[in-house]
Amino acid sequence: MVVVMKNNLILLDEKGRRSDGRRWNELRPVNMAVGILERADGSAIVETGKTKVLAAVYGPKEMYPKHLAMPDRAILRVAYRMASFSVEERKKPHPSRREIELSKVIKEALEPAVILEEFPRTVIDVYVLVLQADGGTRVASINAASLALADAGIPMKGLVTAIAVGRLGNQVIVDLNDLEDKYGDADMPIAYIPSTGEITLFQMDGTMPPDMFNKCLEVAIETLNKMHEFQKEALKSKYLTSKKKTNS
Ligand code: UDP
Repeated sequence: MVVVMKNNLILLDEKGRRSDGRRWNELRPVNMAVGILERADGSAIVETGKTKVLAAVYGPKEMYPKHLAMPDRAILRVAYRMASFSVEERKKPHPSRREIELSKVIKEALEPAVILEEFPRTVIDVYVLVLQADGGTRVASINAASLALADAGIPMKGLVTAIAVGRLGNQVIVDLNDLEDKYGDADMPIAYIPSTGEITLFQMDGTMPPDMFNKCLEVAIETLNKMHEFQKEALKSKYLTSKKKTNS
């Protein structure tokens, strides 16, 4: 196995282990739960390794100011924020350019799944708060926001599932941590709607040889399907728990 090193850091060792001991196709430990906030219409928490993201949904509700309302559909409004304590170096509390851009990217990744035509003149607010960041916060945010929308009972074509794949030398890797995101050769966040096969987010930072691109995409779809199973389990477990409560 070819060792991949950057800035004196071993990103891939001779046994094919990554900086956190994972194999190329291994996810970090995943934990997802829905309905965790009382005041929100829908909520979810998603943890992938050390990355922890909370999402809350309010709405559909009447749009104010009224002139921003759309006569034929609801507006999806997304705010992605990082808590000041979520990163190694304290993040200034006011929204950064990156947070504004990620709010737009996450909104565009979710929008194709939501049946907005059912709620004309309204707004659906989605708040995403990164509690701890270790790479992959935009994909964790999409997974959490789509669960929170489902938990709020918003009609959707299906859940939106997201994952980042990437490259360390000539090795494809999945679910990049912060080190791999910063020092790896490529980072490719992808979101899709498993029930329709639509890709709703596709970004790439770094370089990818054409012969590795298809492999990356193939691995991404396999990994997305695994993440989708975790999302379905999180939704099911809320309903199984509430059923148990009603029966007792
Ligand atoms: N990050 C950080 N400080 C910041 C923004 C990001 O330390 O102000 C880290 C964080 O771990 C994040 C990673 O850099 O997950 C990669 O950020 P990127 O912009 O690529 O987005 P992400 O991978 O989180 O979707």
